Amino acid sequence: MDSTIFEKINSLDPNKDIVALKKAANILKNDGLVAFPTETVYGLGANALKDDAIKKIYVAKGRPSDNPLIVHIADKNDIYPLVDSVPKNALILIEKFWPGALTIVLKKSSIIPKTTSGGLDTVAIRMPNNNIALALIKQCGFPLAAPSANTSTKPSPTLASHVYNDLNNKIDMIIDGGKCDFGIESTVVEVFEDSVNILRPGSITKEMLQSVVNNVTIDKAILNNNLNILAKSPGMKYKHYAPFGDIFIIDGNINNIISYILNCLEEDKKNNIKSIVIASDETIKNYSSFNTLNIGSRKDLHLIAKNLFNLLRECDTLNIQKIYIESFLEEGVGLAIMNRLKKAANYKIIKV
Ligand code: AMP
Ligand code: MG
Repeated sequence: MDSTIFEKINSLDPNKDIVALKKAANILKNDGLVAFPTETVYGLGANALKDDAIKKIYVAKGRPSDNPLIVHIADKNDIYPLVDSVPKNALILIEKFWPGALTIVLKKSSIIPKTTSGGLDTVAIRMPNNNIALALIKQCGFPLAAPSANTSTKPSPTLASHVYNDLNNKIDMIIDGGKCDFGIESTVVEVFEDSVNILRPGSITKEMLQSVVNNVTIDKAILNNNLNILAKSPGMKYKHYAPFGDIFIIDGNINNIISYILNCLEEDKKNNIKSIVIASDETIKNYSSFNTLNIGSRKDLHLIAKNLFNLLRECDTLNIQKIYIESFLEEGVGLAIMNRLKKAANYKIIKV
């Protein structure tokens, strides 16, 4: 029998399901684990201020203990007890982007346990823009540490069923609040008095940050694809987002990409290898005699981000051995999409 409680909660008005909400809060008050939706991906929540609760997150996910967690709050002012101080730049970003998919890294205060911060002196904080997440944190009365609610190395969950597949019987409760709006994790920034550095790209882009603060940089580790200099955002050095099959990103002129992938699919067919191409609205008809998954229109990068992890999980359901995917321009949200894809592909990028 399943030991994990599974409950649907109304995403427009979570207080309509107050009994389920209180049940979840009670589990969290007793140092248990509850997966809940956010606008980015599903999070696996625990009391961010309690060592014993936090340790369970690392165990359930199989997450390395030096990979710090993001602390989720329900009110902008709740940041103050958690950090040393809030620089002016951070205040500007909070005013503009919270609630939202922007995680801010600052020097932590002593109430954040080192288990939450992965041993670092800093803490990552965000206020999610999701009614269920906000109502749950408010019911608890304390901040929730909540990494993505997947088994470590697997694609992040964008549906409650993804959480169920990875963590059923390993956590106390899963709240189903439908499909996540963005489908890709938050942008993570470290914030200083006079600059902002992007540690993980997300749906809040460099251009959006630049519209309100000066000196926005993208960490070298993201641009160089260099796994050895990723220590600043510890999570970025680990294998991530990977389905069981091997992913190959094909990059170059779109006509060359299509003919290269067609050749690969033909070869795989001859060799009895189960392969698939993840293509866009604009290109999918070229692959009509092979297995395909449609990621959406290239003109709508938000939709592509929203579909990405779902399709990678779909490849596992279909027992796919090789996955070919066309590359995207590394601009705007495209930077986040390519960042996740490159990790999922273990940097197997073929230039054509
Ligand atoms: P996840 O919760 O699975 O989305 O992963 C959280 C991400 O935030 C990881 O990439 C972490 O490395 C990053 N992160 C969390 N806390 C910090 C911190 N204090 N400094 C730098 N990066 C952090
Ligand atoms: Mg994660």
